[in-house]
Amino acid sequence: MNNLLKETTYIMKKYKIKANKSLGQNFLIDEFVINNIIESAQIGKEDLVIEIGPGLGTLTKYLLEKAKKVICIELDKKMITILEDRFSLYNNLQIINNDVLKVDLNSMILEEKRKTQIKNVKIVANLPYYITTPIIMKLLESKLDIQSITVMIQKEVADRLIAKPGDKQTGAITYTVYYYCEGEKVLEVPHTSFIPEPEVTSEVIKLNIRKEPIIKNIDEITLFKIIKAAFMQRRKTLLNSLTNAHIFKDKEEGTIVLNNCGLLENTRAENLTLQDFAKITNEILK
Ligand code: SAM
Repeated sequence: MNNLLKETTYIMKKYKIKANKSLGQNFLIDEFVINNIIESAQIGKEDLVIEIGPGLGTLTKYLLEKAKKVICIELDKKMITILEDRFSLYNNLQIINNDVLKVDLNSMILEEKRKTQIKNVKIVANLPYYITTPIIMKLLESKLDIQSITVMIQKEVADRLIAKPGDKQTGAITYTVYYYCEGEKVLEVPHTSFIPEPEVTSEVIKLNIRKEPIIKNIDEITLFKIIKAAFMQRRKTLLNSLTNAHIFKDKEEGTIVLNNCGLLENTRAENLTLQDFAKITNEILK
């Protein structure tokens, strides 16, 4: 039995923990994977790391050694007791018992930067898979003052997040992620790296937040509204889906807008670049 598996089963037994499926509890037991996460996150002694869903603290232990400070946000109260016991000797850990979707991360980061000598903020997590997308969207749309997000998520979702607009595996979220960051694949992770084993293959990805916006002077709300509408009916032509969503008044107007952007009426959402969607946005708002 590997050491991490031994440690994990020992802690679960000691605290009478049964993994809670509805909270997405799949605990990491693979040191190779953990080392890859830690290395790719490039954590230094001037960094604040925010860990979402620390669970039993497997990843936390490594983060605490590398970072200036670690703030863990965990929903399950049972995990809080374990984390407090396990890391009572560390003075660089703060634990927040809350739903990450309810935490005001912006104020938290501002406050930390104000009161300590923190240079960069990095998010690291083995995310609960039942809310992967809402968490990623929150992290990006809140425009947090962070440098990167290194997360383990379902492979299927990961591939969509880090696809390039125009690739095959895209969805509306591909464009949002691409707008805010440059994504890279770190490592594919099999079921056997967790207990209990999840039903899907996992993947670690790193999202490096862009320092400069990739598209300047754009009405983001309209841009993302158009992208979402285009992918809602991705089998349809862009002209049909944007007309059905009332982005275009009618097909006539839609044809003019698309032609003015240098696009054909029978083009589909997945063939467009982010710049194409930006052109449509500006043309509509003209
Ligand atoms: N980091 C641990 C590891 O790698 O072994 C546990 C990862 S487990 C996949 C996901 C963790 O997220 C669980 O500990 C779960 O309780 C926690 N969690 C689930 N929903 C959450 C939420 N809304 N906010 C914060 N934590 C949550």
